[in-house]
Amino acid sequence: MKVRFWGVRGSLPVPGRLTNRYGGNTSCVEVKPRGDVPIIIDAGTGIRRLGKSMMENAFGEGGGTAFILISHTHWDHIQGLPFFSPFYQKGNHIHVFARQREDTHLQHVFASQTEDPYFPVPLAALRAEIEFHELVEGTRFEVGRAQVTCTRLNHPWIAMAYRVDCDGASVVYASDTAPFTDVLLEHEFIRTPPQVGGPLDAATAAKLASMRASLVQMCRGADLLVYDTQFTPDEYRQRPHWGHSTPDDAILVAREAGVKQLCLYHHAPTRTDDQQDAILVQYKDLVQRSGDPFEVIAAYEGLEVTLGDDA
Ligand SMILES: [Zn+2]
Ligand SMILES: [Zn+2]
Repeated sequence: MKVRFWGVRGSLPVPGRLTNRYGGNTSCVEVKPRGDVPIIIDAGTGIRRLGKSMMENAFGEGGGTAFILISHTHWDHIQGLPFFSPFYQKGNHIHVFARQREDTHLQHVFASQTEDPYFPVPLAALRAEIEFHELVEGTRFEVGRAQVTCTRLNHPWIAMAYRVDCDGASVVYASDTAPFTDVLLEHEFIRTPPQVGGPLDAATAAKLASMRASLVQMCRGADLLVYDTQFTPDEYRQRPHWGHSTPDDAILVAREAGVKQLCLYHHAPTRTDDQQDAILVQYKDLVQRSGDPFEVIAAYEGLEVTLGDDA
């Protein structure tokens, strides 16, 4: 199995001189089981180039099947979808998976993204066959030969983490999420930051602990854990209610779950390449000094990680 990064940025695209090396496109990761259909996780602006490359094979002739797993429908995770070329070729078959909402069907969420006045081509005019699949946390399903499981994260209006198992290898994608310690993020906009390290009522603490336990369980023994590490610890203290973690949080989860490799992901839009280099060096060092058996890497556009039998 190969995992390729097409967009690694959080919040919004930030092209330019200072972000070129890691890349300015928003969230999109491709999981490629050997000889099987591609599984795409998130459809930020990175999916545009992935779509173009897919059109060079079966998708160009309208004979392609693909699976898209959406963590949640914030802009940085769906903004590239209307620019995904395989949608415009008759005969392609694309399955889109995302968490079920209580108020509206998933298909409506995606259709509203391309309604006038936001985009000229409505979803109904796309030529490929598109099927929407609603998920609840804990669902297990198959995409091609791969097994997928999912669990919820701690993020405003909730995001889904996914684990993909295939070819004797496994990858977990956990973005976006706050740590499970200071605030429970669900269906409300929290205006003022809660106090980091402050007391939590028992019900909230229990809900967060159970969410975290499910995530750790899902990450157990994974070959690669891709984790939202948008914040430095200082940034987190200022904005704990925004729903993002630090590398320190990711390391704790990786350690508890016994993963083999941790990938820093969903980089802050304000982070320059040099700053991201420094963060990577700092945490590689920390993990080495702690004697952790896993390696820390940082996602950049074009990075391809080979896992399992393919390695
Ligand atoms: Zn995001
Ligand atoms: Zn988000």
